[in-house]
Amino acid sequence: MARRKARSQEAYDVTHDDELFRQTFSSSPIGMAIVDEQGLIVEANAPFAAILGYAVHEVAGAVAESLIHPDDAGRDAELREGLASGDLPYFQLQARVLHKSGDTVWTRSTVTRIGDPGAPFRCLVQMEDVSEVRKAKDLLERRAQFDHLTGLPNRSLLLERTQHALTRHETTDATMACLFLDLDHFKLVNDSLGHHAGDRMLVALAQRIRDAVRPVDTVSRLGGDEFVVILENIAGQSAAEGLLAVVMAAIQAPITVDGHRMAPTVSAGLAMAEDGMTAETLVRNADLAMSSAKRSGRNRVATFHPGLRDSALVRLSIETELRTAIHEGELVVHYQPVVELATRETVAFEALVRWQHPHRGLLLPQDFIEICEDANLVVPLGAFVIHEACRFIAANPVFEGKVLVNVSTRQIGGADLTRVVRGALDDTGVDPSRLGLEITESGMLLATQAASSDLEALASMGVDLILDDFGTGYSALSSVLQNPVAGLKLAREFTLRLGDRSTGDRISTAIANLSDSLGMYGVIEGVETEAQYRRAREHGWALGQGYLFGHPLPPEEITFTAPGVAHLTSLRHRGATTSA
Ligand code: C2E
Ligand code: MG
Ligand code: MG
Repeated sequence: MARRKARSQEAYDVTHDDELFRQTFSSSPIGMAIVDEQGLIVEANAPFAAILGYAVHEVAGAVAESLIHPDDAGRDAELREGLASGDLPYFQLQARVLHKSGDTVWTRSTVTRIGDPGAPFRCLVQMEDVSEVRKAKDLLERRAQFDHLTGLPNRSLLLERTQHALTRHETTDATMACLFLDLDHFKLVNDSLGHHAGDRMLVALAQRIRDAVRPVDTVSRLGGDEFVVILENIAGQSAAEGLLAVVMAAIQAPITVDGHRMAPTVSAGLAMAEDGMTAETLVRNADLAMSSAKRSGRNRVATFHPGLRDSALVRLSIETELRTAIHEGELVVHYQPVVELATRETVAFEALVRWQHPHRGLLLPQDFIEICEDANLVVPLGAFVIHEACRFIAANPVFEGKVLVNVSTRQIGGADLTRVVRGALDDTGVDPSRLGLEITESGMLLATQAASSDLEALASMGVDLILDDFGTGYSALSSVLQNPVAGLKLAREFTLRLGDRSTGDRISTAIANLSDSLGMYGVIEGVETEAQYRRAREHGWALGQGYLFGHPLPPEEITFTAPGVAHLTSLRHRGATTSA
């Protein structure tokens, strides 16, 4: 604390005649001091000294400015000048002062000119310690900028920091990259293990990401299961890819939450900063890349390219067009035979939706089903396909097999699939036993309480539930089989591995046996070659589907050549009547 020798005590003596002022000064619980025109503290009361950690006599004679934090001293001097010149009658200032201990203390002061206009300049400083208020405010600001669960910066702080960094880098030529990470199937964790477990998993993964990157990189959580990392001063795209690989590996290490061991995976997008780019654009580009990684099968990485922006626009227009497509009759259903392998006779058909788009031609489900789900259009689409399938059955009395319809998780439960199915059966006079519903493994798992009772109701009506793409999820069989499942379809991935004399063959054999011993029928999907066909039979599969037996065809191109065979109650019974 800088001190200067007081000129003469006499000169600074305050209004001896104003005893009232003096009493107020000394007994006030608020810190008070009198400062002269040179900025020296003439007199201070005990609370004023206490805020600074000094005794009263230590403060008297001190240079006021030397007690103020250097960052705030300029503002104080400026305001005091305004006071001295008469421009300001008084001023208020929030400033940090320097405590004797070396700490800084946040204070709020009201500074008023005192004395007669002719007398030498003096001002009265009334100062309060506002550290507590300040701390609360800082905490609120922190809350507004940081994710409360993981403590990572949130979206607004991320964008702010990224914008700063982008401006800085424009002048230095260094490169920046953005990684957008989205956990795969995180909803499954929340739904099956509960939100607490989900939260713990997020906290652990946040830590893993932070540990995997460099200290200079900003890791943030955008909410849900999305994390964004900004890499500053990165040598180039391949260096960013290298860091991303490290992050992916860190996330994928097995993790135990509430006694459940899991192997989390993540879909990631990478985007590089370009000159003049805003933070929003950089993050959005990485987000677009991430969505493309998700669409191409999850647990993978995609790098942004301008084409992604175009395909995002296409998605958007598809979404708009889909809303009308359903009513305009642009959706059609094709049917692909399911055959009994021993005889190659058709025992069932799978109904597969297509979109006869007026400009884009025939679109396959991969081009629009996901958009449909995101846009909540899958419920009307699903209802349409179920009705079509029933009309197909009703229109072809010579065919006595089943028609299998794919349903999305979103159709089950809240959307009351049972009511839709019953409506379609009633309208067409079709028996429930003629209908099967294909649900994916993860779809079955995601089934909520409402969904489970929907599935129960359908099964007790006599509609078959079939596990589609079996083997691609990572669910415990026991939890899937809590639902009344009648059959399963082995995912095409495994058919492709038939004949490898290794895991492909072993899995195929094991699942064929499993379905048999559980009393379910098993269908091997995607059989394209005679070699696969032979293997499938050797492994014990009774039913198959694939281009070898027939492609999906519009109903008008399917001809039923043989008269129907009666008593077709289950797919396991021989009952083929058709060739497609
Ligand atoms: P999925 O249920 O696994 O259907 C089988 C898919 O494999 C069909 O593709 C079919 O055309 C194709 N496929 C059949 N045999 C072969 C083969 O030998 N080789 C190859 N490479 N592919 C074969 P598609 O029609 O493009 O359908 C894809 C997926 O879209 C379906 O997979 C199903 O999950 C979904 N999907 C289809 N129709 C509907 C629907 O009406 N509603 C819902 N929610 N999803 C549907
Ligand atoms: Mg299917
Ligand atoms: Mg399938």
